[in-house]
Amino acid sequence: MKLQTLTFYVHLLFFATVWSQNHNHLGGKALTYPDIPGFITLKSDLHQHTVFSDGEVWPSIRVMEALRENLDVISLTEHLEYQPHKDDIPHPDRNRSYQLALAEAEEHDLLVVHGSEITRNAPIGHSNAVFLNDANLLLDTNPRVPFAEANKQGAFVFWNHPAWYRQSPTGNPVLGEFQLELIKRGELHGIEVINEYDYAEESLALALEHDLTIMGTSDIHGLIDWQYLEKGYHRPITLVFAKERTRESLRTALFEGRTVAVYNSLLVGKSEFLIPLIKNSIQVKRAEYIENTQILEIELENISSSDLLFENRMEYTFYSNAAVFEIAAGETRILKVKTLEQQTQISLKLKALKAYTAPKTNPEISWVIQLN
Ligand SMILES: [Zn+2]
Ligand SMILES: [Zn+2]
Repeated sequence: MKLQTLTFYVHLLFFATVWSQNHNHLGGKALTYPDIPGFITLKSDLHQHTVFSDGEVWPSIRVMEALRENLDVISLTEHLEYQPHKDDIPHPDRNRSYQLALAEAEEHDLLVVHGSEITRNAPIGHSNAVFLNDANLLLDTNPRVPFAEANKQGAFVFWNHPAWYRQSPTGNPVLGEFQLELIKRGELHGIEVINEYDYAEESLALALEHDLTIMGTSDIHGLIDWQYLEKGYHRPITLVFAKERTRESLRTALFEGRTVAVYNSLLVGKSEFLIPLIKNSIQVKRAEYIENTQILEIELENISSSDLLFENRMEYTFYSNAAVFEIAAGETRILKVKTLEQQTQISLKLKALKAYTAPKTNPEISWVIQLN
């Protein structure tokens, strides 16, 4: 082989490597959460904006941001009725933002769901419809039409930021006649308990009372990096527990309320999903007695992206740390448990203090550990 030819192949190999590395968009802040028994965990952000409504970026940037943060699902939910950039970006077709994101995501492992934000003043407020076929058909001056049409298209509809102080100055959600009627007709299926930086336990109470799916979303308008990542946070997301990694499985899971809303260390969901999520997030790496003592060392690893705050709920006390302690995301901690007598089995019982299954209610999680 001529030297020139060899040089050519070396260059080719180099560029191929660089290209494939560039092509993986995973950033240093990838989100990870474990699956739970019977379901795979899909990380979703189903409320985002671009220049096609009042956002600041092109749809492809939303796809890149999602890939960098290791999300599985996104939806771009442009305001149907609020179009401040329309003089610069004329787009008679309300499906355009979705189409651009879908094209960008095509060669990547990211599900893009077709959504829109139905935008009205209080008391109707804002709602998202996701899994639409044609967003154009939702445009109407009568506020009942977009909800009826979205449902006709098989969409999953959720109430956005019901506690937003611009629409509810007390900061508490007000469930009015309009929402009650939607719920009665089966046209409203979910509610945001976390939106952007805000969590309302009153919204969680409404979710539980009316059997609405618990949602958490970023409602991002600017850049995810500027608003969250560079401050050391992640965006709020909804973990959806689906049978398969498909749009149809995701849709079924949303309608069946299989979700946990997450914002950094805050986790909100029904106990049947939140408890197995936390249980699988903490892996028992090792458990053994310190020689010639009744002090049991238990090494725990938090494999999730949430810092988890726990309180000891066992009859035994700890040798080293206080009853309340944290295991940071991705970190390992050794607990020293004073069992007073050597046991053959122990049930490690902890209350998760920043996880909520209802207002003011934290779940208790048990890990049964066999000892030699
Ligand atoms: Zn809104
Ligand atoms: Zn919005």
